[in-house]
Amino acid sequence: MPAAANPYRVNVRDLVHRPGEMRERSLSFAVPEQLGAGAVIVREGEKLDLELRLEGLHEGVLVSGDIQTVAHGECVRCLDPIEHAVEVTFQELFAYSPDEAFDHTVHDDHVDCEPVVRDAVVLSLPFQPVCREGCPGLDPETGERLADVGPREPSAVVDPRWAALEGFQAAHDDDNHPA
Ligand SMILES: [Zn+2]
Repeated sequence: MPAAANPYRVNVRDLVHRPGEMRERSLSFAVPEQLGAGAVIVREGEKLDLELRLEGLHEGVLVSGDIQTVAHGECVRCLDPIEHAVEVTFQELFAYSPDEAFDHTVHDDHVDCEPVVRDAVVLSLPFQPVCREGCPGLDPETGERLADVGPREPSAVVDPRWAALEGFQAAHDDDNHPA
């Protein structure tokens, strides 16, 4: 991807080596590459809003961000589609020198927030997403959605030994209560 097309890239020229300077930026763009790889992901092309606060420090630029976007996937129990609102924050120091003990550095006059945003979003996504709490899932035999068909009749799987006992019980009741 050409650097100019990276929407996560933020110019910090007016903050570099100016401790105490602060800027706020609001970005809104279509996600160029999907975020996440699990049951719920932020799709390519999904709108992502990024509220940034950029502060010049002695050792680098401190970037604080509020991320808002929407993830899609399916319920792990009933396979219904899920829409999951993503609202997550991050704070990361982008160092001037790559020698310092920081994961990210200022490149020339900009910072690339892509890896930081990606990590924050992916970590916030549910690992076992469900459409709603207590989703009953699918019938293991028919594959039907249990929320639609209601609880299954337990008589469908009566043990033959219990069936014999029921017959005995009925006969016994007849003895005690003649018609
Ligand atoms: Zn479900």
